[in-house]
Amino acid sequence: MLWEIVHVPDQESVPKDLTVNVLASAVEPKLASALMRALSPITPLENLRHVKRIRRKQIEGKSELSIVLHPAFDEGSELGNIPNDVQKLIDTYNLSPFIAKVPMYPATSKEEWEEQCKLWPTSYHPMVNCDHVSGFSEEDSQWIISCMKSTIKLSKQNHMDNQDVNAAMIVDPACREIIASAVDQRPVSADCARDLVESFGKVNVSNVEESTWNESTENCPFVSCLHPWKWPQDRAAHPLKHAVMAAIESSAARDRRLFPLRANKSNELSSSLGSPRKKQKTEAPQDDLEGRPYLCTGFDIFLAWEPCPMCAMALVHQRVRRVFFAFPNPNAGALGSIFRLQGQKSLNHHYSVFRVFAAH
Ligand SMILES: [Zn+2]
Repeated sequence: MLWEIVHVPDQESVPKDLTVNVLASAVEPKLASALMRALSPITPLENLRHVKRIRRKQIEGKSELSIVLHPAFDEGSELGNIPNDVQKLIDTYNLSPFIAKVPMYPATSKEEWEEQCKLWPTSYHPMVNCDHVSGFSEEDSQWIISCMKSTIKLSKQNHMDNQDVNAAMIVDPACREIIASAVDQRPVSADCARDLVESFGKVNVSNVEESTWNESTENCPFVSCLHPWKWPQDRAAHPLKHAVMAAIESSAARDRRLFPLRANKSNELSSSLGSPRKKQKTEAPQDDLEGRPYLCTGFDIFLAWEPCPMCAMALVHQRVRRVFFAFPNPNAGALGSIFRLQGQKSLNHHYSVFRVFAAH
């Protein structure tokens, strides 16, 4: 079986063939730079920053240049609507304007960019810090796929009433060590379930339409992230202890176990607040903290199912580096299916998202 690792983009892709009209003209090579200098302040390519001002085409071995004169140009406009400054340049340089089509949006992939350049040259800026976004080595790919297989196995092994649950595995990619793993958890008892329902009594779950749970996800009733609002009815799943949250809890417990000094020091710090030795104490702990991870900074997480918004946001708080999931979550998926949390510019941390699946 062939496995694929596909990057889930931060932004929804726009139709590739969207174009906009601009006013352009052929230009003599020797006049090109003078014309560019003259046009830039008059008609900046404000909403078309990705579009290059000059197009160079090889026609019968000869290089032919065209230049964008004016970016906002309606097809129906008469030449008389051209701004005066631009018209003066047309007259001065004896240009013959024509309407050209240019790509409306910047390219989101190299392939798209190559396609755009056939129409009109554009600039392409791959994602910042893209070292971990694409181009996995063969070895990395194999490791990612084996982690995903383990995660799916974990999900199947811990099924409830023959139904899969979500599984999460937090891994340190630097040493390829499993930091924590967990599956969706149930309320521990019927009493506990009742208490949870009562404590969440103010939440009006009747507003959530049953019809939003489509047939395919109905087959996975115990995957919490797929049914974040269903727990009060069948009480099959814990409302908060989704696999991701349980794995985070387990990772935090590991930190406390392996790096206990921080907790001790912080206790000492709080007890020394206001004492004359406060300054001395606040300077001391740094060396002791060496090696302790800050939350899940730099770690990857593997999930059987795409997380719900609660879990996806918890992973932002945890500063994870990459999220890999196998199955999309059409009910409440927060990483591409319904929401796209990884593309929210207002958040103070962004992780990369990948879908890892067996292609047929
Ligand atoms: Zn969840």
